[in-house]
Parts: sequence; C-alpha cells; structure tokens
Amino acid sequence: MASRAISDLHPQLQPLAEIFLRRCRDQGLDPLLTCTWRSAAEQDALYQQGRSKPGAIVTQARAGQSAHNAMLYGSPAARAFDVVPLVAGKPVWDAEHPHWHLMGQIGQALGLNWYGQPDAPFQEYPHFQLSQEF
Ligand SMILES: [Zn+2]
Repeated sequence: MASRAISDLHPQLQPLAEIFLRRCRDQGLDPLLTCTWRSAAEQDALYQQGRSKPGAIVTQARAGQSAHNAMLYGSPAARAFDVVPLVAGKPVWDAEHPHWHLMGQIGQALGLNWYGQPDAPFQEYPHFQLSQEF
C-alpha cells in the first residue's frame, strides 16, 4: 500500500503540501491525497498494470524512476504527491471538472510542477511535483 503520509514527502515538499491542501480548502475544494511515497516493489506492480497485468496503463515509470520513489538518507522522501478533488465525498476523475483547474493553479502558484499542464512531460492530472532546484 502506497503511503499517503505528508511525512513521507521530501522535507522541502512537506510544507508546500500543507499549504496546498489549506489553500484548496480555503477555496472550497475538498482535496484527497491519494499517494505520497511508494516503494520500488509498489512502483513495479503499478508499471506492470496494463502490460503483463490487466488494467489500464497508469505510469511510464519503472521502479526507482518515479518521483514518488525518491529517498533521502535512507528514508522515504517523495518529490511528488497525487491528489484528487472530492465532490460530495466522492473522487472526481473527470479532468474537465473545474476543481482540477483550480487545484492546478494553486499548486503552480506554490512553484510546483503540475502534470495536468499541456506542456507537462506526461499528462497526469493528480500529480504535483517538486521542481528540480531542490
Ligand atoms: Zn504522481
């Protein structure tokens, strides 16, 4: 099971994630963190989905390649988190929903790279990643 703990994020990303969630709530959004850190084994299992295992392809990253797998001094230090907006308590996966755009704006205002942007390396609306300077 992948982690949803903010403490498993990179130290630079932890306060940004807290502010991000607070600003989302201030704007009437109900964000749910679905993933912070995941292990190499969990990444591998996810990579096999849609390839050697049934389901849709959900990642291009093999074990160790995802920002969610990052470690620092031997501890989880994910450089990205995934978040989905809840509406009436249910996750909204439709990327056309306006809450996605609002979340994207809030994340980008904090200097995070939002992978819902058209120029992102790949399209993954829930994915907010620490920029490379850290
Ligand atoms: Zn992600």
